[in-house]
Amino acid sequence: ERNRDIKVFIKDKLHHRDEAKVSVFDSSVQGGDAVWEGLRVYPEGVVCLDKHLTRLHESAKTLAFVDIPSKKAIKEAIQKTLDANGMNDEVHIRLTLTRGEKITSGMDPRVNQNGSCLIVLAEWKPLVYDNSSGIKVISTSQRRNAPQFLDSKIHHANLLNNILAKIQANVAGKDAGLMLDERGFVAELNGSNIFMVKEGVIYTPYAHACLPGITRGTVIELCKENNIPIEEADLTLSQLYNADGVFATGTMGELTPIIEIDGRAILDKNELQQKIRSLFKNNIKGYCEKLT
Ligand code: PMP
Repeated sequence: ERNRDIKVFIKDKLHHRDEAKVSVFDSSVQGGDAVWEGLRVYPEGVVCLDKHLTRLHESAKTLAFVDIPSKKAIKEAIQKTLDANGMNDEVHIRLTLTRGEKITSGMDPRVNQNGSCLIVLAEWKPLVYDNSSGIKVISTSQRRNAPQFLDSKIHHANLLNNILAKIQANVAGKDAGLMLDERGFVAELNGSNIFMVKEGVIYTPYAHACLPGITRGTVIELCKENNIPIEEADLTLSQLYNADGVFATGTMGELTPIIEIDGRAILDKNELQQKIRSLFKNNIKGYCEKLT
């Protein structure tokens, strides 16, 4: 397996994967207290790199991390990791920034006195769902966090409610779990955003209770540039069941058609959805940014 001997960057050094470890005193082990980004690497560069680094910085600032590495330092760490592994294509990077090591166990951020800890884990990975003609999803009883509980704009590593939704999908034998917000409107899938097509218009939920995904932003931008009507809206399950097309977006899966929701077949024959998929495929390399 190609990933067997990869090297992983932790704090300031590269380690063979077997030696790539964080302390049991790290905030991520004790409280899921970390922020993260998933990055896609092509020979042309990293897709929407600056937007990912900005989101990482904003999440870390919201959580009051200290000693947050600069964008320049993070880019250098990524470059070092890719160089050490001889990687430049078909690579997925899991970038994690933990609050850092604690001096004793506990939740209080003041027991973290060593500054934040950057982890760059680069692996060869194909796009998820790349070979599938579409995915099947179910709506779950797990509600997506709304701002009054834990702001979904923070891209934190406390993924337990998404994991519970994914478990419900697994038990049902489906590919992903759909999460509603606390009002019962559609929020997103457990690891990607959602769009629907209806009568020539593209809709996606407001980013109130979903991650404002970077791929979601790219799709909105591409629609606007190509005069395709796009609207943010409160969407119900019934609207999704009866859409002309539904698709998921995310860095790791790019655009994936959803062909079934709660046992209802969803159409994937409409021209608009095909058009957006090809616009995305033809333009994604234009969103790549060099590290240096
Ligand atoms: N929603 C959730 C819950 C996610 O974890 C992700 C992936 N980070 C996304 C949506 C997609 O976001 P992006 O397009 O920025 O990868």
